[in-house]
Amino acid sequence: MKLVVASGKGGTGKSTFSANFALSISRCRDVVLVDCDVEEPNLHLFFSGDMRESDVTVQVPVFDMERCDLCGKCGEFCRYGAIAVLPEKIMFFHDLCHACGGCRIVCPNEAISETERVIGKVWDAPVDEHLRLISGVLNEGEPNGIPVIMAAKEAAEGNDLIIYDSSPGTACPVIETIEGSDYAVLVTESTPFGLHDLKLAAEVVQKLGVPAGVVINRSDGKDDETEAFCREAGLEIHMKIPFDREIARLQSRGDLFSVAMPEWQERFVELYEDICTRTGGAP
Ligand code: SF4
Ligand code: SF4
Repeated sequence: MKLVVASGKGGTGKSTFSANFALSISRCRDVVLVDCDVEEPNLHLFFSGDMRESDVTVQVPVFDMERCDLCGKCGEFCRYGAIAVLPEKIMFFHDLCHACGGCRIVCPNEAISETERVIGKVWDAPVDEHLRLISGVLNEGEPNGIPVIMAAKEAAEGNDLIIYDSSPGTACPVIETIEGSDYAVLVTESTPFGLHDLKLAAEVVQKLGVPAGVVINRSDGKDDETEAFCREAGLEIHMKIPFDREIARLQSRGDLFSVAMPEWQERFVELYEDICTRTGGAP
């Protein structure tokens, strides 16, 4: 089963939820947690373990100026502005290239070939016997995190229970992360901004055909509007994590509150079992 944890906005505590959720479930079964927030991966900060690192590469164009007649077709084709065909030469801006391969196809003179370029890494770390953390890490300045997300997800394939931690928002990397998931947990908070972005996230999962439920983090007890929206949208509110001084204190130290407060481990496992019941997945 593949679960995804997403949120329409940053700062809802999505990653903290993912880390506590995965760790709690790992007390009763094997879990692979995948950090798909490749521009700012942070789940590794919660866990230790010997990390294996592998490169993520993409194919980028190389220009053969013996064959090129400066016709300009590649520059016209590239919607990302990565190629400028000048009167006497071609300029290629590798940091704008999205590695789509289109310029090679449109070149009438077979003057473009491809070479590999490293754009990021996948870290793979066994946290303990039952929990494994895989993190996608996009190199600074790279424009396209999708291949790194795909590589991180690929590294987790073949495992029975995989939890993807998505980047916040509703852009392409989030869609890439959510696709193929059996269920989405949308983490929100008790604020008007939280509700606004929850609506966006709910729309995305609905369009992708992924069933979803909601966790309200840092709940101040005034969740009427969020509850009303969830009722209307048919989204189950699985859990409310209260705005709690002890939880805040533990998190400010970088600790996972489910470790110091084991009653939460039971609640996270119950949440997982509830999702299994809804999706027909194995507990
Ligand atoms: S591979 Fe695609 S994005 Fe990169 S330069 Fe060619 S057309 Fe542009
Ligand atoms: S399409 Fe091919 S021949 Fe035309 S400018 Fe680009 S590399 Fe040169």
